[in-house]
Amino acid sequence: MNLQLPTRFGEGYKSPSQLARRITEPWGADNLYCCACTSDRLHAERNNTQVSDLVCPECVERYQLKSHSKKLSAGILGSNYQKMLDAVLGNRTPNFFLLHYQLPEWMVRNLLLIPRFAISPAVIIRRKPLSAVARRSAWTGYILNVGLVPASAKIPLITEGVVADRRDIREQYARIARLQVLKPEQRGWTLDVLRCVESLPNSVFTNDDIYAFEAELAKLYPGNRHIRDKIRQQLQVLRDRGLLQQPQRGVWQRS
Ligand SMILES: [Zn+2]
Repeated sequence: MNLQLPTRFGEGYKSPSQLARRITEPWGADNLYCCACTSDRLHAERNNTQVSDLVCPECVERYQLKSHSKKLSAGILGSNYQKMLDAVLGNRTPNFFLLHYQLPEWMVRNLLLIPRFAISPAVIIRRKPLSAVARRSAWTGYILNVGLVPASAKIPLITEGVVADRRDIREQYARIARLQVLKPEQRGWTLDVLRCVESLPNSVFTNDDIYAFEAELAKLYPGNRHIRDKIRQQLQVLRDRGLLQQPQRGVWQRS
């Protein structure tokens, strides 16, 4: 992987966002690989909305590259809330590569992959329309709340300029891909509980340890009065998908 972005593609462009796209898209097509299979190549495919997706020629998995010159923050801006929500519910979300590059060198510093099945409806936050014109228009933007994505679903391909082994990356992807059999509307709960599990300090924990997140989850699901039952049910889902073990009743272990 070449961490120097090809700045020659930016010649003649002034707008920072256009410049970044012109420069990072060809880099992605030349350097990124499929994390869902063993293909070391992805093809750039320009669709009618002018957002170019990267597609694996072997398993047809889709990826979208989002680039920032600032370090990854908790939220990624997107343009069309309803379209994104429909895509999540219809299982048509692309995987996201989140690229952070350093200026003025145009060097790649960090790159995270968020697998598409780690994006639940709860992660897509509708933005408040900023103007009267926007309020009148048919759609509003959204923020992809990266803070609500479980840690194991933020897969670091590059960390402060150090490139991870792609076999490790594919293993991490395959692990979280075990959740893709769950329906999108059901997956939100599973991902939320997984995120709580992964934020516990110890890999072995009890029901009571995870109940500490009851209030936080109740805020995300204000209509649900049976949060503890739901938590236990989701721990079982995670166990059945091989992401947790249950050494004894009421005791769990991350695996
Ligand atoms: Zn593939």
